[in-house]
Amino acid sequence: MPVPQNGNKMATSWTIGGVREALAAKKISARELAADFYTRIEARNPELNAYLALSPERARRQADRIDALVAGGKALPPLAGVPVAIKDVISTRGTKTTCGSKILENYVPPYDATAVERLEAAGAVILGKTNCDEFAMGSSNENSAYGPVKNPVATDRVPGGSSGGSAAAVAAGLAVAALGTDTGGSIRQPGSFCGIPAMMGSYGRVSRYGLIAFASSLDRIGPFANSVRDVAAILQVIAGRDPHDSTSTTAPVPNYPDEIGKPVKGLRLGIPKDYFAEGMNAGVRKKIEAGIEVYKKLGCELIEIRMPHTDYAIAAYYIIATAEASSNLARYDGVRYGLRVEDDSLLAMYRKTRGAGFGAEVKRRIVLGTYVLSAGYYDAYYLKGQKVRTLIAQDFRDAFTKVDAILTPTSPVPAFKLGERTNDPLQMYLADIYTVTGSLAGVPGISVPCGKINGKLPVGLQIFGPAFGEARVLQLAHAFEQAGGTTV
Ligand code: GLN
Repeated sequence: MPVPQNGNKMATSWTIGGVREALAAKKISARELAADFYTRIEARNPELNAYLALSPERARRQADRIDALVAGGKALPPLAGVPVAIKDVISTRGTKTTCGSKILENYVPPYDATAVERLEAAGAVILGKTNCDEFAMGSSNENSAYGPVKNPVATDRVPGGSSGGSAAAVAAGLAVAALGTDTGGSIRQPGSFCGIPAMMGSYGRVSRYGLIAFASSLDRIGPFANSVRDVAAILQVIAGRDPHDSTSTTAPVPNYPDEIGKPVKGLRLGIPKDYFAEGMNAGVRKKIEAGIEVYKKLGCELIEIRMPHTDYAIAAYYIIATAEASSNLARYDGVRYGLRVEDDSLLAMYRKTRGAGFGAEVKRRIVLGTYVLSAGYYDAYYLKGQKVRTLIAQDFRDAFTKVDAILTPTSPVPAFKLGERTNDPLQMYLADIYTVTGSLAGVPGISVPCGKINGKLPVGLQIFGPAFGEARVLQLAHAFEQAGGTTV
């Protein structure tokens, strides 16, 4: 519920349900609400750098449509008037979509991603586009060509990445919910760093149509919000088969908001020994252990499990993701769209365009990916990586014959300081140790807030479920939130 603060008409923290009630009771109009969010963005964004572009006209048109429904006494769609933000790798018709890259600095997509179209059809008001690591490659948002994002809970720290702008916007109250993308952790890790729930559905659960590709066999779109209930409400709207994406599944979409209230007593939760080895920050470990206790109190059965191929996940991920990236990013050649640096010779034009348009991390990945796919190295790296991927997926399938869900930390460390890891790509890659496994396996995962280290830095608990078991994941996350897990 929106709570008017200091006599102001506007609440500072809104939920989807709260927006709906306020609109229905005519306490506020969708137009006023959107305008209030833009005022907040104006005040806070210069410091946070969470938004790269705003779409006030589009927001106003949509808000007016919602206000007309209210005035006409019509039924309101599920996300009526809810102000949302969209990661800048997701296409929005008429609004610049840069992927955090100079090469797409002036790119305006001619169509909307399916997820965006569905959000708007459900009544959401799209405020603008959020900052991210260039082409979603990174774990700190420091790889954006448009500058880093600051973590709203500690502005000397990173918000996580690559969906750092989406996480920061929601955590700072500059959007009620946001879309991000997750290829190896880019929704879950920034969710954990900024202290909000954030979810990646199973591969194929949400259409990728209009998502500008990084690694197509891994990329997924998913929501950030301030509560698990709101995460469920957004997923509900964006999930489901889309004829424009042949990898989107025809598996029916359950009613997530209905599912989440079910009791979790008796559910079997796997604790993978392999994730609790060295490398985990002591503060993170303490909070995760306290979080696990919450489930014990809720009557869940905790079972130690083994996921023996976990150690190879980072290596496999950075081979497969870079291989796919090198292929996907070949399209930025100065001919079709995006930046072009002119030269008389075609080859020199390609070179200059790509040299000027891509940042250092993207170049590193194109080189790595091209190498692992090249004749002579393909078998040794790419094919081996694919085999390891199969083994990791098998670890998950084996685990889910014994347990209903798996609990791990989302990240081995809390939000680190800006600049702390930028000179050491390997350190940065290692931050993805707990998230890339689920990405390779295609299973759904959520990060749910699990206390703060020294009362300041948020920790995220990650919950994995079997493929297309989103309802179970949401149910467990919601029960955790309700039982006070977020403040352990
Ligand atoms: N941090 C990982 C990477 O840099 C994951 C990125 C993502 O999920 N988009 O590839």
